[in-house]
Amino acid sequence: MSRTGSDYLASLRDGRAVYINGERIDNHVDHPAFRNAVQTVAGMYDYQAQNQELMTFRSPGNGKQVNLAWQLPSSQEDLVRRGEAHLAWARLTGGWIGRSPDHVPAALVGMMIGIELLENYDPARAKALRDYYAYARDNDLALTYTIVNPQGDRSRNVGDQGNKYHSLGVVDEDAEGITVRGAKMLGTSAVLAQECLVGVQNPLRPEDDMYALSFAVPLAQKGVKILSRRSYEQSASSAFDYPLATRFDENDALIYFDDVKIPWERVFIYRRPELCGALFHQTAAEQMMNLQSQARFTVKLQFLLGVARRLTETTGTVNFPAVQDTLGRLAGQAMAVEGNFRAMMLDPTQRGEFYVPKASRVYSATSAGQSLYPEFVNDIRGLAGGGVIMLPSSVEDFGNPEIVEMIEATQRSAATDPLGRVKLMKLAWDALGSEFGSRHTQYEMFYSGPPFVQHMRCFGNYDWNASTAMVDNILSDVSLEASLGARK
Ligand SMILES: Cc1cc2nc3c(=O)[nH]c(=O)nc-3n(C[C@H](O)[C@H](O)[C@H](O)COP(=O)(O)OP(=O)(O)OC[C@H]3O[C@@H](n4cnc5c(N)ncnc54)[C@H](O)[C@@H]3O)c2cc1C
Repeated sequence: MSRTGSDYLASLRDGRAVYINGERIDNHVDHPAFRNAVQTVAGMYDYQAQNQELMTFRSPGNGKQVNLAWQLPSSQEDLVRRGEAHLAWARLTGGWIGRSPDHVPAALVGMMIGIELLENYDPARAKALRDYYAYARDNDLALTYTIVNPQGDRSRNVGDQGNKYHSLGVVDEDAEGITVRGAKMLGTSAVLAQECLVGVQNPLRPEDDMYALSFAVPLAQKGVKILSRRSYEQSASSAFDYPLATRFDENDALIYFDDVKIPWERVFIYRRPELCGALFHQTAAEQMMNLQSQARFTVKLQFLLGVARRLTETTGTVNFPAVQDTLGRLAGQAMAVEGNFRAMMLDPTQRGEFYVPKASRVYSATSAGQSLYPEFVNDIRGLAGGGVIMLPSSVEDFGNPEIVEMIEATQRSAATDPLGRVKLMKLAWDALGSEFGSRHTQYEMFYSGPPFVQHMRCFGNYDWNASTAMVDNILSDVSLEASLGARK
């Protein structure tokens, strides 16, 4: 039997420390800042339980049906199957939940595929990662990760921020494990996850070894403090006014570690700066986790195309050639994203006995997505005009017959009735321009790391030889002497 929504809900009731709006809250699962998003993810687990053939495989550890994101792909078919499972989950939310519980398992699977990185450094740390992967897989845990140090002053090194423990670092070690203190930035979905994988993607110098750590920790562990950003779910006035923010606000939080004890069995990297970034880009972690990201991104662009189409039908512009030019261009871009995602599954590379997406495709997808998304959203805003602003102040207006009469008279549409127009425009604004929608632009621009890093990964992984060989081939045919001779 696979995990259900109620299993998931029970697992989140763990007494963790969540801080929001000036207070520490006791029960985040039922709190108005988070409860709908929690229910959304519970619905994903119910879907998984009802669609086990599509969504799960039998864990070799305990024989339970667990999400396919935990599977190490032994064939291209395995990769396709997991990609289809990612797509199916993403479709449940229109791609609006970025850090759904199939993302971090994919990173762990990629680390397992490249486990020799840790084996070569310290077999005990490699064993810790293997054991954690097996434990998390067998329990189909919902995980998040925090792998970036808080922004602070990026012109200074990690230990030079005016507070030794601005970024998470080690305080102490003993026979049981290590004690850590400091912060990690933006655990997306921390309120939706049971545990957190911690690492470092920022560059570290050899002397920054006290910050060079990777481990896993339950979010309810003593000393782990989840500092939530503003909740868009809570600030949304109603589901009518904010149909996306009220159900898909996955939340982002700064995680502060207030002298948290981590047992050695959960420490994967200890004081080894050169391994921290490598754990993600020298293993297959980034390749595997970004298959999920690109499945979700594919679905999100398809959702936005639906918004664009309905918008232009509603405003009566859909048949204008210039509008079709824009819609067609957007559809082409969404198809190209889907094409790249499918190529990641269908044209993989082999690493040992496993199949993983090619790194060159993965980084081209992440870097292209970072610049495509803001433009895509902006183009749809261009199609929307002021219709997404010319709206009743809230659902309450529909409770006043005097205002309803004016809404009926003024919210005319080429394709629907006034109520239908208002509903669509409110959804469009939530997707494109509300605080929720705007956060998504920032998410797509940064979740995979800063753009300049993605560009460097593209530079490093592109097959330059195939390109330069064609150029060199032509150049080798060009002869100064022959050309001069031909002119005489
Ligand atoms: C909505 C959202 C959700 C996120 N969720 C998570 C999460 O779940 N887990 C997690 O670990 N992280 C998460 N992040 C953090 C994300 O990984 C970082 O935002 C990203 O790595 C960039 O780091 P930064 O924000 O500190 O920006 P910076 O590193 O400060 O970069 C910002 C900009 O400054 C410039 N810049 C900075 N340094 C350089 C340089 N050396 N050379 C040239 N230009 C430079 C570039 O223009 C760059 O785009 C999330 C971020 C967002 C916005």
